[in-house]
Amino acid sequence: MGKCVYLDYAATTPTDPRVSKAMQPYFFKKFGNASSIYALGQEAKSSIEDARSAVASFLGARQEEIIFTSGGTESDNLAIKGVAFALQKKGNHIITTAIEHHAVSGTCAFLQKMGFKITFVGVDKEGLVSPEDIGKEISDKTILISVMHANNEIGTIQPIAEIGRIAREKGICFHSDAVQTVGHIPVNVQELNVDLLSFSGHKFYGPKGVGALYVRKGTRIESLLHGGDQENNRRASTYNTPGIVGMAKAIELCRENMGQEAKFQSSLRDRLIREVPRKISETRLNGHALRRLPNNANFSIKYIEGESILLNLDLAGIACSTGSACTSTSLEPSHVLLAIGLPHEIAHGSLRITLGRWTKEADIDYLLETLPKIVKKLRAMSPLYDKK
Ligand code: PLP
Repeated sequence: MGKCVYLDYAATTPTDPRVSKAMQPYFFKKFGNASSIYALGQEAKSSIEDARSAVASFLGARQEEIIFTSGGTESDNLAIKGVAFALQKKGNHIITTAIEHHAVSGTCAFLQKMGFKITFVGVDKEGLVSPEDIGKEISDKTILISVMHANNEIGTIQPIAEIGRIAREKGICFHSDAVQTVGHIPVNVQELNVDLLSFSGHKFYGPKGVGALYVRKGTRIESLLHGGDQENNRRASTYNTPGIVGMAKAIELCRENMGQEAKFQSSLRDRLIREVPRKISETRLNGHALRRLPNNANFSIKYIEGESILLNLDLAGIACSTGSACTSTSLEPSHVLLAIGLPHEIAHGSLRITLGRWTKEADIDYLLETLPKIVKKLRAMSPLYDKK
């Protein structure tokens, strides 16, 4: 492989070598099943409980409020279907937003087919959800509100604490998908007033295939996986000991480094926000100028297709994204960009650049040198571009 400048950390992050080292003993030496009563099993169980305690304290939660899962998608499914099935006698109405990840919107669409009523609240042109708009949709049938902490495409950070306050006043369960924020900006379940919170190891330098759901004590959820009595009967299946240990190690590293990493990444992000529109005409920043993830810059570049930019960047050794990774094979424009009011043709020309632990100033130099040349070449071929 030639040059590789990785600028797609929101899709996934490399597993930190300190994380894989911490996981290593649990594949062969400490391989026991954590449900077994002999020493080898109990050793695994004790490592899992240490991991649970580290994860819980990072989020301001109690140990018994953390359920380990296989990732963000499962956590979102467990939160939303779990509450919907547990409270269906009380009501059948769920409020969410128009810009959620498919793990949330797809789960809601599934519930809609089963007879639940779903309200998708819109956002403003910077991608912000208004707590008042959420409040206005609440009825005596509402059982759950689900709003993501930060958007995976445009990076806008939502007013979660305010929405949580409204939900709590009305006695409604409140879930937030924090897959893009845990490990990147402070996330405290008490300050955010959430009852359920999803996150995923591979987004903060942990391994893939492990995540967790925070469930506030007293919140009723129906389990989705039936079988053994793991996780207090709330999620059956043999414990993924290496994954859980690895995610806890990743959290420990984020606890130490998050502040300075966010500071450095936001300085690189701000350089992109300043320089991309200066070097390339008719470009707009998507998402909120200030309330945004420290590592996210998302631009719409008029007259060309996002896919063509990506392919040309790839040839130059740069990995970026258009829309989210899960939809990058679909030619439909991103639902998030449409929700912030972009017309189809502009939504098609979007580029998401996301930074991380190993991003260097030189990577940004290279992108800023390469991207304008690619755009110039593509625009010269575009029938939409006025080549005067
Ligand atoms: N929610 C958001 C906001 C995401 O960005 C992602 C992953 O892209 C997910 C959920 C799904 O997480 P996972 O890949 O761990 O299933």
